Parts: sequence; structure tokens; C-alpha cells
Amino acid sequence: MIEINDKRDCSGCTACASICPVKCIEMKSDEEGFVYPVVDKSRCINCGLCEKTCPIINRKADAKIEPRAYACINNNLAVRMNSSSGGVFSLLAENILQNDGVVFGASFDENFVVRHTFVEREEDLNKLRVSKYVQSDMGEMFKKAKEFLDADRKVLFTGTACQIAGLKSFLKRDYENLFTQDLICHGVPSPLVWKKYLELKGLEDCESISFRKKLENKKRGAFYAKFKNGEEYVKSPYPSEPMIRIFLLNKCLRLSCHACVFKTITRQSDVTLADFWGINSVLPEINDKKGVSLVLIQSEKGQKLFDEIKSEMTYKEVNFKHAIIHNKMYYKSALKNPVRTRFFRDLQNLPFKKVMGRYGWGLL
Ligand SMILES: Cc1cc2nc3c(=O)[nH]c(=O)nc-3n(C[C@H](O)[C@H](O)[C@H](O)COP(=O)(O)OP(=O)(O)OC[C@H]3O[C@@H](n4cnc5c(N)ncnc54)[C@H](O)[C@@H]3O)c2cc1C
Repeated sequence: MIEINDKRDCSGCTACASICPVKCIEMKSDEEGFVYPVVDKSRCINCGLCEKTCPIINRKADAKIEPRAYACINNNLAVRMNSSSGGVFSLLAENILQNDGVVFGASFDENFVVRHTFVEREEDLNKLRVSKYVQSDMGEMFKKAKEFLDADRKVLFTGTACQIAGLKSFLKRDYENLFTQDLICHGVPSPLVWKKYLELKGLEDCESISFRKKLENKKRGAFYAKFKNGEEYVKSPYPSEPMIRIFLLNKCLRLSCHACVFKTITRQSDVTLADFWGINSVLPEINDKKGVSLVLIQSEKGQKLFDEIKSEMTYKEVNFKHAIIHNKMYYKSALKNPVRTRFFRDLQNLPFKKVMGRYGWGLL
């Protein structure tokens, strides 16, 4: 049965809990706020499926075929302005929905907890747009995706590379009607830290929150919240926002993010999306400062989907190595900040305001 001896070896993808035939595995939060599988041994039938399904234990060899790389901009400016980078996620998703498909991705629930969910209508896509820099709660979404796939619906499943690897391990076989899209991922912050931050800032009953609000003349955008009374909280420049700062300085990431095994040359997903950092050295003429996506294509299916949406983009193929040289999170895990252990110890012992005072403003 699955046993986590070293927390770096579990990304919390939920594949083990989802596959268990007797439902004796529960994903439970630890003191840092990250979920890990806990087996009810009295009900376990020792079938071994959980271990056989774990995408880290059964790590796939890297295909080492260089993906094709593109710099892309969604021609719909309104959608792009409401996306983290070039708005390519929305084009992939619209294509699937227009073909009676279903799109899975990360959304905020009514309390701004980040959860995976699915949408079947284009008017609901806004829920999934824009990066939420918190580990999403996968819930039962692997099983739900399988139900749609078995019913012959097209499915676009989006998430971090570990979530896509978990889904693929859980499904066990290739589905013609499954499309997957992951992200170049810095790492995922703790949902507990995010919950405490919402409380500290009084953001739980906001109308909307955006981790990446695009504002005129602000290079990296802002952290933005709109309250029900119309008041706004806008924090820019971007890293001056304490929650963003502890994220970018690697103080509150999941331990497995510091040893990510999914940062391979060729990912398991059909398409990888990212911010095109370094666009000015690769293709300055495309950069209108409103966001450019780096799109990496790693399968025939991914190429077919890309070809279907390309008439709705301004795009250019670029050299893969030149494209990723400015985005080292493609191939490198985030370095653990030396204060990470102290941060989580203090999180348990001190008032949260004090913790953020110590770690959210200090520049370590
Ligand atoms: C935790 C995290 C870390 C990232 N780190 C980097 C990085 O280091 N470098 C880089 O270039 N890009 C990074 N990205 C990706 C980048 O921020 C954009 O999401 C990506 O470029 C797609 O942008 P878009 O404009 O096409 O679409 P958008 O509409 O902005 O993207 C929406 C997509 O992001 C997914 N998503 C949002 N939040 C989450 C979440 N918490 N977990 C899983 N999926 C999520 C949605 O499901 C959807 O597929 C990161 C994204 C996340 C969520």
C-alpha cells in the first residue's frame, strides 16, 4: 500500500486515492496545509493498485524529443487582458467546448479556495482563466474526467505537470478524445497559507480576486481584489504583494516542488503553456506588453489542436532552446528557501500576522 516516507515523493495528485477500489485512501492535509494520502489499513485489501498508479513511483522515461515552440497571442484582446499571458488556454478550451467537449481546470470556489472543476459552456470559462498561485484541490476530478471520456465526450484536462501525470496514470490507457495541457510551473504554494492570508486581509467575501490583473503600464501586472462594496485592493509592483513574495521566494511551496520529477524535456501533456519570459530577446516585434504565451507542442494531438486554433492567434514558431533559456522553471525545480522550515514552524506557533510580518516583507 502507498506509504509516504519522504514528502518530496508525493505531489498530492490524488491518483492513488482515485484508483482505490475500496475507497480506503483519503487525501488529508498535513500541518503545512498540503494533502497526502492516508490509508485506512483496516479496510485495505492489499491489491497494490495505489502504488502501481503513483506517477512518481512509476516515473516514465523522458522521450527527449524537443517540443515545437511558438510565441502566441490570442487575437481577442479582451480575453487576453483577462488571462495571465497570451490567452492561449482560452482558445484551446473554446475549441473543445465548441465540439461538445468538457474543460477541466483550476477555479476559485465561493470562498476563494482553489479547486479543480469542469465547465461545459463558454460563458463559464472565466472561472478557469488566470493563474491561481496555490495548489488546487483535485477532489474527484480524475474520476469525473474518466466518466466523460468513457461517454465519448472530448475532454481538455488542464493543470500542473504532476496533475496531468497523475491523471494519465489513473486512466491507465490512452484516450483518443483526451487532450491535456500543463504549465511551466514555479511550484505550488500551500492552501493553508492562502486560507490564512484571505482571513488576514478580509478577502474571503470579496467579489473577485486576480493573482495576475493586467494594468496599463504595469509590466508584470498586479494582485487585485474587488470587495462587494466596490472598494479595490491593488498591489503593484507585483512582488510587493506579500503572498506573491513568499511564493516567488520559495518560502511556502510544496516539498515535492523542490524535487519535481516532471520537469522533463518532453512532458506527458499534449501542450505546455507558459509566460514567454525573454520575448524581447527572441521576438521583440510581437511584444505589445499585453502578454505573450510560450506554447510547446509535444504530441500529434497537440499539434492538431494548435493547427485548429492558429487562425485566431498572432503566432510565430521559435527555436525551442532559445524559448526556454529565459524560463528555467521549465527544466529546474524551485530552490528551497533556507527559511522554509522556520516559516512553516512559525505558521503553527505564531499569529499569522506576525508570520507574514517576518517572512512576507523581509527580503531573504
Ligand atoms: C502555480 C503556477 C505556477 C506557474 N509558474 C510559471 C512559471 O514559473 N513560468 C511560466 O512561464 N509560467 C508559469 N505559470 C503559467 C502561467 O502563469 C500561465 O498560467 C500560462 O502561461 C497560461 O496562461 P494563458 O494566458 O494561456 O491562460 P490563463 O487563462 O491565464 O490560464 C489558465 C490556466 O491555468 C490553469 N491554472 C490556474 N491556476 C492553476 C493551479 N493553481 N493549478 C493548476 N492549474 C492552474 C487553469 O486550469 C487554466 O488551464 C504558472 C501557473 C501556475 C498556476
